[in-house]
Amino acid sequence: MIQLMKDDECPSKKWHDYRIVAETSSGQRERCNFCGHEVCYPKKGLNNVKYLKDHARDFFQHVGRTADEFIRVYGEKKAKENQKLIDQKNNKVDWDLIKYETKEYLRYWEKKSHAGFTDKEIISQIKNAKS
Ligand SMILES: [Zn+2]
Repeated sequence: MIQLMKDDECPSKKWHDYRIVAETSSGQRERCNFCGHEVCYPKKGLNNVKYLKDHARDFFQHVGRTADEFIRVYGEKKAKENQKLIDQKNNKVDWDLIKYETKEYLRYWEKKSHAGFTDKEIISQIKNAKS
């Protein structure tokens, strides 16, 4: 679990939620949506580690090492929604592969049919080849 440093702590207990309030040629100012705390980031000489830490909430994932913090900050519902999106993506049907395989089966079927096999025999051959 990621530890919050005392000076970085947001009274919301959910990490600061900084959003840009002003942009200038030399940098930008951001304010926390919860507590109004402001930070300035210069374009030149930006402290990457501090920036990353200030925006830690944006990098939490609903799985893995930061899962606890993700749930604390965004809630169980959001974690489930994210997982659902991933599941949907993983379950997406690969139509190109199915079309390719179907074409291969048809070709095989035709060949076997010409060689004198019955449909029943061909189906059983395909089943055997698959397992
Ligand atoms: Zn804050």
